[in-house]
Amino acid sequence: MLLKDRTAYITGAASGIGREIAIVFAREGAKIVIADLNKEAADATAAELKTGGAQALGVAVDVTNEDQVEASVQEAVKAFGAIDILISNAGIQIVHPLQEFSYAEWKKLLAIHLDGAFLTTRACLKSMYASGRGGSVIYMGSVHSKEASPLKAPYVTAKHGLIGLAKVVAKEGAAHNVRANVICPGFVRTPLVEKQIPEQAKALGISEQDVVKNVMLKETVDGEFTTTDDVAQVALMFASFPSNALTGQSLVVSHGWFMQ
Ligand code: NAD
Repeated sequence: MLLKDRTAYITGAASGIGREIAIVFAREGAKIVIADLNKEAADATAAELKTGGAQALGVAVDVTNEDQVEASVQEAVKAFGAIDILISNAGIQIVHPLQEFSYAEWKKLLAIHLDGAFLTTRACLKSMYASGRGGSVIYMGSVHSKEASPLKAPYVTAKHGLIGLAKVVAKEGAAHNVRANVICPGFVRTPLVEKQIPEQAKALGISEQDVVKNVMLKETVDGEFTTTDDVAQVALMFASFPSNALTGQSLVVSHGWFMQ
């Protein structure tokens, strides 16, 4: 068990990639905090993990709300002792050509991805520093942390920004044995992507099949989606890595869509 007795606070863990990370980490012995806007789904995921023998807690959190983030981390520390792993994963997607983006949409997307990453990092770092056990901070970036696509101005901006944040946390956290890294997945067939397929088809004037084949998977080596388990295995590698040798990095898991 690679994460025995460690506690992971995972945002957006009621669905998609975050949920799979919760399942994989629980299997590896971690205590799991499911921090999500969707309280009902967070509780359902926590109940499922408990049925499998894990310790899990569902908490209702909007990651852009400072008070909710602070309170939920305190609740998690009270329940499990300390936070050892933060997976800052909650996210949304909004697609429009730049000239059609409203300022409100721009700010909403940046707030969830960047303010959420800042607020959860700040709250969890306090616990990691206080425990003396160190920790691992993992941001859910994207191939869009490295590469641009049309229609995704705020998303590409936010995902690039997470790499900068991870590098700062890597430098500041090192003295406390806290590491920070970014996972950069290609397209994963979660609700976030299912929603985009018809939206992109409409915006680009092409069929949904063409969006999948000629937009989303066009540059992959094999025309395959990345899976939630692929991403969870990378998260496990970062979370269980034993030293500061692996910090300040970003790893692309995308079927070769983007090669560094
Ligand atoms: P998803 O829609 O399946 O899950 C996102 C979760 O985040 C949901 O449970 C939702 O309730 C939660 N959430 C949304 N806003 C929140 C908020 N303000 N506070 C707390 N929770 C909130 O999406 P997913 O595909 O699993 O995406 C997870 C992360 O992975 C996102 O950061 C996304 O940008 C990133 N990502 C996804 C893909 C992909 O292809 N699916 C690729 C690269 C990166």
